Amino acid sequence: MKGLVLASRREDDLNRTVVAVDGVRIGEGFVVIAGPCSVENEEQTFRTAQQVKEAGAHMLRGGAFKPRTSPYDFQGLGLPGLKILSRAKDLTGLPVVTEVTDPRDVSQVCEYADVLQIGTRNMQNFALLKEVGRVDRPVLLKRGMHATLMEWLHCAEYILSEGNPRVILCERGIRTFETYTRNTLDIGIVPAVREISHLPVIVDPSHGTGRLSLIEPMSLAALAAGADGILIEVHCNPPEALCDKDQAMPPDRFAGLMRKLRILRETMNEISPRAAG
Ligand code: PEP
Ligand code: MN
Repeated sequence: MKGLVLASRREDDLNRTVVAVDGVRIGEGFVVIAGPCSVENEEQTFRTAQQVKEAGAHMLRGGAFKPRTSPYDFQGLGLPGLKILSRAKDLTGLPVVTEVTDPRDVSQVCEYADVLQIGTRNMQNFALLKEVGRVDRPVLLKRGMHATLMEWLHCAEYILSEGNPRVILCERGIRTFETYTRNTLDIGIVPAVREISHLPVIVDPSHGTGRLSLIEPMSLAALAAGADGILIEVHCNPPEALCDKDQAMPPDRFAGLMRKLRILRETMNEISPRAAG
């Protein structure tokens, strides 16, 4: 595929990349990454981390650097937030995924996080892509909200071509004319990615829908479509969330979703052992 030297897969090559993070293998089975939109304080992060761990999540998410639409909204705790995340990992054993928004912060974020997230607004921030391409940390690359599949894969190529082979793609919804949902979650892109790329692809149904009621069905849809996992926002006390409270899933509901995912995985395994991993 033109320009996609490292991100594309040859039609006859069925091998897929598995990104290993501290014992978690993304690209094998179905990985669930869960946690708050933003790290607000120690108590909120530790409680949520313990609750998602108990429910069976494999990794913890949480933003310390928040790219907000308004400069007056909560921007994240920055370095103190990274330290809280790293202590939450000590407490639960869950590897940490967190967003980096500025090339100047990359080395600091690497000290505290296991996976660097590039958010939708920065998908084509080429200076940032090159910077994360030079470090020894996996990168979770969200799809730009206006990006085509080819534009998205070319951004993965930026990271790969700098020498970092550990790229995970994340579909998080695109902008369409629809306003009922926050974004339009493009589930069809999952099998499309798998057709032309060897990179693991996960789905973020929280930002993809923006509505709590839609997160569970879209999580199940992601699994059924062949995604390698989901990234989902969970908060120990959603009404108090400082960021994205309308899509914050309470822990008991998350535990229920995890049970349904397990049942669907078993069913998929019966149909086609390879499909569900
Ligand atoms: C996030 O996952 O915290 C986030 C800001 O997501 P996105 O970049 O997809 O909006
Ligand atoms: Mn969010």
